[in-house]
Amino acid sequence: MTQIAQQLDAVRQALRKAEAAAGRPAGSVGLVAVSKTFPPEALRAAYAAGQRAFGENYVQELVDKTAALADLDIEWHFIGPLQSNKTRPVAERAHWVHSIDRLKIAQRLSDQRPEHLPPLQVCLQVNVSGEASKSGCVPDEVLALARGVAPLPRLELRGLMCIPEPTEDEARLASQFAILSALACTLRAAGLAVDTLSMGMSADMTLAVAEGATLVRVGSAIFGARHYPGQ
Ligand SMILES: *Cc1c(COP(=O)(O)O)cnc(C)c1O
Repeated sequence: MTQIAQQLDAVRQALRKAEAAAGRPAGSVGLVAVSKTFPPEALRAAYAAGQRAFGENYVQELVDKTAALADLDIEWHFIGPLQSNKTRPVAERAHWVHSIDRLKIAQRLSDQRPEHLPPLQVCLQVNVSGEASKSGCVPDEVLALARGVAPLPRLELRGLMCIPEPTEDEARLASQFAILSALACTLRAAGLAVDTLSMGMSADMTLAVAEGATLVRVGSAIFGARHYPGQ
């Protein structure tokens, strides 16, 4: 087994354990392997070990890797901040976008989604920590944004996504995940059929599953530490 296959296996086991601990059915939480900064060969290794959903943060990397890996049946998740002048390549390539934080971006993605592809599956990113530097809409705006996104013809609103504060304080993390979970209930009570809570990364996956995550986004625990150019 390659190192990536071994690490992927360990993440899957941790996920099964977290599901069991939370009293949730095995397999109820999906795993998005976050491959940002890693080369196509790393994704091939994970794919060979059965992984199908991959997450990318940067538009250029999505463009490059979808081209380099066009022979594989990958489900591409775009999870990074999205500027309005960069929506087209994402609309043309991704299966999912987790990081919608304003209506304008959603409208552009819907307008640019090619007719021959199924609707783009989208989550609204919510700033649950209140940090000024964080992307995401504020919790008070989520319902209005969801009502604007839901009718867009080429998008399917699936749920909510968050990145909590970078802290090891488990109670704080849990309370921020719980905010996302409660907001999803608010949307459902308003008649919006959302089924996805995208939350939990390498360090806090178990907590996120306990708070109701249905998709975790795990990078370094699968692929190792990231090295950014120039650092
Ligand atoms: C990088 C990233 C992840 C994965 O983080 P790890 O700590 O490496 O698991 C998940 N979600 C988003 C939005 C990211 O940018």
